[in-house]
Amino acid sequence: MRYSEYLLPTLKETPADAEVASHRLMLRAGMIRKVAAGIYNYLPLGLRSLRKVEQIVREEMNRAGAHELLMPMVVPAELWQESGRWQQYGRELLRLKDRKEADFCLGPTHEEVITDIVRNEVRSYRQLPLNLYQIQTKFRDEIRPRFGLMRGREFIMKDAYSFDLDDAGADGAYERMYQAYRRIFKRCGLNFRAVEADTGNIGGSSSHEFMVLAESGEDAIVSCDSCEYAANVEKAELRVPESQMPAPSEDLTKVLTPARKSVEDVAAFLKTTPQRLVKTLIVQTDKGETLAVLLRGDRELNDIKLCRLLDCAWIEMAGEDVVLKATGAPNGFAGPVGLKLRIFADREVQAMADFITGANDKDAHYTGVNLGRDCEVETFADLRKAVAGDPCPRCAGKLEVWRGIEVGHVFKLGTKYSESLGAVVLDDQGRERLLVMGCYGIGIGRTLASAIEQNHDADGIIWPLPIAPFEVLVVMLNPNDAEVKAAAEKLYGELRERGVEVLLDDRDERPGAKFKDADLLGIPVRLTVGARGLKEGQVEVKLRAGGAVAMLPVASAAGDVA
Ligand code: ATP
Ligand code: MG
Ligand code: MG
Ligand code: MG
Repeated sequence: MRYSEYLLPTLKETPADAEVASHRLMLRAGMIRKVAAGIYNYLPLGLRSLRKVEQIVREEMNRAGAHELLMPMVVPAELWQESGRWQQYGRELLRLKDRKEADFCLGPTHEEVITDIVRNEVRSYRQLPLNLYQIQTKFRDEIRPRFGLMRGREFIMKDAYSFDLDDAGADGAYERMYQAYRRIFKRCGLNFRAVEADTGNIGGSSSHEFMVLAESGEDAIVSCDSCEYAANVEKAELRVPESQMPAPSEDLTKVLTPARKSVEDVAAFLKTTPQRLVKTLIVQTDKGETLAVLLRGDRELNDIKLCRLLDCAWIEMAGEDVVLKATGAPNGFAGPVGLKLRIFADREVQAMADFITGANDKDAHYTGVNLGRDCEVETFADLRKAVAGDPCPRCAGKLEVWRGIEVGHVFKLGTKYSESLGAVVLDDQGRERLLVMGCYGIGIGRTLASAIEQNHDADGIIWPLPIAPFEVLVVMLNPNDAEVKAAAEKLYGELRERGVEVLLDDRDERPGAKFKDADLLGIPVRLTVGARGLKEGQVEVKLRAGGAVAMLPVASAAGDVA
């Protein structure tokens, strides 16, 4: 590729609204451009790296016995109504109508569609096991899209779904995916941990998240320094500190739960969901809107000191109908007034405060809760201080606390979707059996962004070779010098002949500007062709990682680096 013919708009200035390194660098390196909140153009350079991540994912999925297909992005409401998620999913699901007023959604995940395929096409246990995947654009109307490709609304995901006759088969499929994920993230050059995780919106019995360790991560994880134990704090078996919390202050208004029946309606409605809902707090905002906070835990709310804030949802009561208007899941724990409230993403504090305006007491709730005053707020730093060094729940080791970016997630789904959608096969006795499913996601763009979070310096990106947009950058120092031009062109041609992915910087720019861009783009190997070196018959080779420099004979340079 010739730089002079390419669309590679690098930026000198740091874009104002980019808070994390990967977002800043992807903008500055001309990889992405924002179209709307959480919606991006992938420019040519960015697309090259995205395709590399996709290809690694594809190779490992194929190696693990999965088969690629492609499902539609626009999905008819009927399928989502069958699973019950049309009502449950909340506002992350973008719903739309066609010209005939028929309801559709943009697929945020594809359990329904894949289960529909399999219930129609698979009849016998002989067709099992089956693992199908796609690499496709997803849409989730995230409440706070941010950090560039990290949390987009439109983003590319690899999603795979396994189908087995029984639990043992499904466990095997899960294990194969788990191992495939380890290989994928290793090949992408990432430092990651696989952690025990909660099953959230997708449902199912057990799951692991693959977390890239990075301070910019929105999740908090704990891991043992001596055994394999690692978990998302949402799931972790942490010692819950006994509450020495302030009593609810006098300023709080204690209000009888406005519509007791409504709370039950809501609870009943939500009980039909697969989530083990524990409690819904119905509160009123100062605008008089009814707001509900869904608290979820493993036991009864009354028994637990700390319950996890899973979703924040507006629930509208329309006659007898309960309409779930929104969900979003800031990371953290929430407890009723007087209990400890843990907030792991410092940035979320104010947003959380806006949500958690209610607290439960018997038949009542409070309004006007002030987080700092009525609940103790713990930031990630506090959490790290409190938990780091605690005993591991599995062995004599000690816990470490990290921030992580969730790049992949594997779930055992059990029969949740095969049951609601009626996906059965005949076993060897001719009996109908519900398919046992698993689902497995990887954020392609988020994986790429995470690689940059872990591999950059003050000057730019430092690509791990397997996902670098190009392998070699040839810098033609002065395109107006015929000798330099000829030598650089020759080198460029030789590298291409050897199958090396090479970018030739043939622009008429000052050397300083070219070197600055070279550091920003982070292509692993830089070959510089200049008049001074050529006099000695040499070109300079420089590695972006580590910065090692050497001179190579121009005649053999292509072979040496290839
Ligand atoms: P998060 O907790 O960050 O919201 P999730 O748990 O909702 O993610 P999953 O439903 O497990 O996400 O989806 C599988 C994978 O898709 C995630 O592990 C992540 O890599 C990616 N992903 C999810 N949401 C986004 C997003 N908004 N932007 C980019 N990638 C995403
Ligand atoms: Mg999410
Ligand atoms: Mg998650
Ligand atoms: Mg997840």
